[in-house]
Amino acid sequence: MLTTTIKDHSSMPKPPSKHLEELSKEVGEDVYVWYISDEESQKLSKLFGQDFKEIKMIGTRVNSPLKRCQVCFKWHEFYDWVWTALERKVHTPMFMFNALKNGRQGDENAHDVYCSGCGTITSIRTEDNSEGAAPNIWLAGPLDRKGYSVVKAENEAASGDAPEAAIEEKSV
Ligand SMILES: [Zn+2]
Repeated sequence: MLTTTIKDHSSMPKPPSKHLEELSKEVGEDVYVWYISDEESQKLSKLFGQDFKEIKMIGTRVNSPLKRCQVCFKWHEFYDWVWTALERKVHTPMFMFNALKNGRQGDENAHDVYCSGCGTITSIRTEDNSEGAAPNIWLAGPLDRKGYSVVKAENEAASGDAPEAAIEEKSV
């Protein structure tokens, strides 16, 4: 049985956010800005080991209103997204910091996001569950981006060989 104590984050103040009415109408779906509070900014600085304010990022655009984690009640933040990427070794802190600073975000949004308060998967995840949507970060394990193509190709070759070998044995 798991004996890990999960901290109750229900006293965490709701971070600032805004529904972008005009843009939502324009794109036909709800768009929100989740602002980065001073407290979150400080946590991000600690995570990166560099001053997050250097990035000059004020928030993230998300298609969902702010939500609390259903397990520890922490409000979901951009911090969780970064924490997940670093925890799962998607990127080094330095690489990520520089990518954000230079406005390069690419398709990194596509990975499943876990709650930094308790490790539970959040609602911010790949829509097709292509990453497996493991229930918590420890089960999700490291995400090796290179592994998607390289390892898979080797696996396919290996599984292609196996049945042939089995047939030969039978026919002998
Ligand atoms: Zn949580």
